[in-house]
Amino acid sequence: MGTKKNLSDIAWRDFKALPLTEKGAYFQGSPAHTLIAQQFSREKIEELCELATKIKRMNKRRDGANFLKSLLSDKRAMLYFAQPSSRTYLSHNAACQILGLDTMDVRDSKTSSEIKGESPEDTIRTFSSYVDMIIMRHPVGGFAERVAWMMAHTGREISVLNAGSGADQHPTQALLDIYTLQRSFEKIGGIDGKHVAFVGDLLRGRTVRSLAWMLSLYKDMTLYFIAPESLQISQDILDLLDKAGTKYVVTQDFASVMPIADAIYMTRIQDEWDVEGEGSTTEACDYHIGAEHMDTIKDTTVILHPLPRRQEISTEIDNDSRAVYWRQMRNGMWIRAALILTTFGRQEEVNQHYAEYKPEA
Ligand code: ASP
Repeated sequence: MGTKKNLSDIAWRDFKALPLTEKGAYFQGSPAHTLIAQQFSREKIEELCELATKIKRMNKRRDGANFLKSLLSDKRAMLYFAQPSSRTYLSHNAACQILGLDTMDVRDSKTSSEIKGESPEDTIRTFSSYVDMIIMRHPVGGFAERVAWMMAHTGREISVLNAGSGADQHPTQALLDIYTLQRSFEKIGGIDGKHVAFVGDLLRGRTVRSLAWMLSLYKDMTLYFIAPESLQISQDILDLLDKAGTKYVVTQDFASVMPIADAIYMTRIQDEWDVEGEGSTTEACDYHIGAEHMDTIKDTTVILHPLPRRQEISTEIDNDSRAVYWRQMRNGMWIRAALILTTFGRQEEVNQHYAEYKPEA
């Protein structure tokens, strides 16, 4: 990720124009930010996965859980969610609780002074007086980056964690997806060399955009993008994959990919982005996986979904061991706890005390 740089040293115009892979150098300082998938190196992701597993195991013991709760008991976080959320909101909140971090929230900007005409920037600047971190979801792509930049220029900089922005980025979802893939493929050589199929609305699915890029950090991957032409993955992601030398196939043919995929990442239609008067995209995308397909996919193939799901996965396969989306969701809480702890630079304390609190088995 290169040498650390300060957001306070760069003009917004110049920062905005930087390639995504160069922006990360600005987020590693103190305070650290989590804003885009492209700021993570493979090494960093692996450290986070290892830390997540340690936190999860320590938390099983009461004394371990109490130890974890003491780690960030001096910190407070604001959950600012200007877009609907269930899992991401709750799992961040739970991750904060595991580490003893107090939280406050604004989940509906109508209940904040934004309704009185205050700009979201001013609202966030206000939060920064009370907390050490903002965990935020916002409908405007790039807004979390803008907030981090803005705060760096106020002299009251706090960590910003992007919990989903517009249709462009969802870095913490990509981390939990990678964590799930890593655990699923533990006994079959890890993530390297695997074939991963993305299915559904890939144009507006921010989780796919973030995860596809993170997978390019692994060796000999083949990614399949399966979507109707109008909702296919966009060129900026394909350009990043080309640059990273990651193989990919862009197709509409799910049936031919099913038997060769090691992971199938289903997504819902993101029709909240439909433009009024331009027709609905719902009909354009009817990919589906159900009991009738389970003999077609390999015994080791895993099915993921960032959730919420609609018709694209039948509930009848929920108990198949290859359907890992419920486990994937739970993994989110652990990897987010690892990420928050690392944001405050306190991860070494877990490493130092792990042996003491590790469960017997
Ligand atoms: N929960 C994910 C997101 O926030 C996926 C989705 O909503 O379809 O992007």
